Order: sequence, then C-alpha cells, then structure tokens
Amino acid sequence: MTLLEKAELIKNEFEADRQAAIDGGKPEAIEALRVTYLGRKGKVTALMEDLRSASKEDRPAAGKSVNMVRSHIDGAIDGLKALALKWELAAIINREAVDITLPVDEGHQVGSLHPVSLIRQQLMKVFRSLGFTVMDGPEIDFDFFNFSALNMPDNHPARDMQDTFYVETAEKMLLRTHTSNIQIHTMLNQQPPLRIIAPGRVFRVDNDMTHTPMFHQIEGFIVDEGITFAHLKGTIDTFLRAIFGPTLKSRFRPSFFPFVEPGAEFDVECGMCKGKGCRTCKSTGWIEIGGCGMIHPAVFEAVGYDSSRYSGFAFGFGMDRIAMNRFALPDLRQLFEGDYEFLGHFPTRGN
Ligand SMILES: [Zn+2]
Repeated sequence: MTLLEKAELIKNEFEADRQAAIDGGKPEAIEALRVTYLGRKGKVTALMEDLRSASKEDRPAAGKSVNMVRSHIDGAIDGLKALALKWELAAIINREAVDITLPVDEGHQVGSLHPVSLIRQQLMKVFRSLGFTVMDGPEIDFDFFNFSALNMPDNHPARDMQDTFYVETAEKMLLRTHTSNIQIHTMLNQQPPLRIIAPGRVFRVDNDMTHTPMFHQIEGFIVDEGITFAHLKGTIDTFLRAIFGPTLKSRFRPSFFPFVEPGAEFDVECGMCKGKGCRTCKSTGWIEIGGCGMIHPAVFEAVGYDSSRYSGFAFGFGMDRIAMNRFALPDLRQLFEGDYEFLGHFPTRGN
C-alpha cells in the first residue's frame, strides 16, 4: 500500500469513527477519537513517521496528501470538541431543571413583618407626607457627633445620664446612644432649610421590662428661618394622631436635654389600661414616647450655622415603645427574643 492509499484509508476510517462519535453523543468518545488519530501513538502520527522513510521522489506528493489528511482531522476534532461542550451544557441544564408545573407545598409558612418594621414603615409614610427626607447615620461613631457637638462637653453632667457602650479605639468611639448624631452629620454636610427624619438602632447599658440594651429610635428635625415651638407641637401632634388614631390622648411635659432649649417630653395614654393605670405604665396611665425641643444655639455653633438667622426643632422617640403601646405588648423584650409564635401573629405586609 502506498502512502497516498494509506492516507486515504485513514481519512475514511476517521469519517466513520467521527459519525459514530456524533451519534453516540458522549463527550468522552471525542477525546478518545483525538487520541486514536492525533495522539503520540495515533494513526496520523504513524503516517507522519512513515513519510520520513518515503523515497525522495515520492515525498512531495505523499507529504502534501498526509498533511491534508492531518489538517482535516485536526479541524474536525476541534469542531467535535465544541460539540462536546454543548452536550455537557445541555446535560447540566437538564439535570438542574426546575419543574414549575409541580404543585406548591401547602404546608409552607409565609413570614410576617416584625412589629418594629411595621411601625417604622407607618412612621416613614407619615413623615414623608409631611415633606421630611429620610437619612441614615453610623451606629459606631466618634464622641464628637454623639456628645460634644450636641452641647455635651466632657465635663457635662448629661453624660452621666446615659450609660454608654464605649469602643476600645485610639480615638474615642462609642455605640451611639441616640440617633441625634445624624443631626450633626447632616448639618455639617448640608445647609438649611432641612427637614430630616432618621430611624436607626441605638445602644445603652439598660435591661428591664421597658428598656433593652439595643433599641430603635427615630430622630426628626427641621432647621429654617422662623421655626417656632408651635411648628414642633403641630408636627408631634400630627404623627401621634396618625399612629395612634385621633382619639388617643397625648401630652407635653417640660423637660431638659442639653441639645435643646426649651425642651419637652411627650407621652401618650397607656394602650394597656387606657389611662387607668397598670404595671406597664407604672400606674401613671401614660407612656413616655420621646423628647423634643428647640435646637440649642450651641449645637448650631458646633456645625457653623448662624443661630441669629436660623432656628429649628428636634425630636427623638423610641419606635419599640410605640410598637409596644400600639400592639399592647406587656414586655419590650418580646420584640427581640425572636419567638416565632409571638412574631407570627403580626401582618405579612405593612401599609
Ligand atoms: Zn397602663
């Protein structure tokens, strides 16, 4: 058999093998085919060696023929490799397919929203309707934003009013004790007029029926020209009515906070006893909701605002207290124990 005949034979054998591999549809058969023809002991490789021993006259024609067969098989194998990839992909898709026509498992439980999330959604809706913008701020902050800039210098007795979680860092950092740090961040970054509402987590060393070490607060403040205490009272009244309904009573009491002057606290009638007095309200008939007041000129000074031109009010209150009163919960800690039986009673969606 001449080299030309041998080359022709191998080409025909390959064609038959190639068709068999395609029909078989197995990616490993393609690799086997490559080894059989192009491998170190493959048929084409043997043909190339035979070429070396061909006579000088035969070599050009035989060489051309052998090379044509080799490049034909080379190209065909590349095509088969691409085909093998497609097979593998199809196999994966087939294996991982989800049958969307299967019936749903009817025992599946739908989650409900946490009472604090429900209250936060409702509050955000009320404040957005009053033109407030929602802001966020850091939970771990520098002393400056949490205390100093809020008219609470190092020696101020107000620092003793709060038991603070300090973070051991070179610069004095702490877990914020109130969302009022957002006031300072915002005022340092923006100019009046400001109308901001900022919900977030705050931290204090406290744990009993009405206090938890972590709780949710909302900070709200407005800074503009000509803002008065009447604007503050109107805003607080509007949101209390929106949350508790128009019939639940509320009241303001004069109070002191270093970052406001004058300051007040606001209460709503106890949801457990409707004002008669019970364990939850410590027999007073009222639940303290939060504090508020006109922003102290010293705070404006700390952020570089002109206090002869601008005035403003700020208020802060606990969302957990509101949830507690709104859903008549006897113990604040229920909100953070993750008890499914308890949490499952709340709606699956807010308003
Ligand atoms: Zn009560």
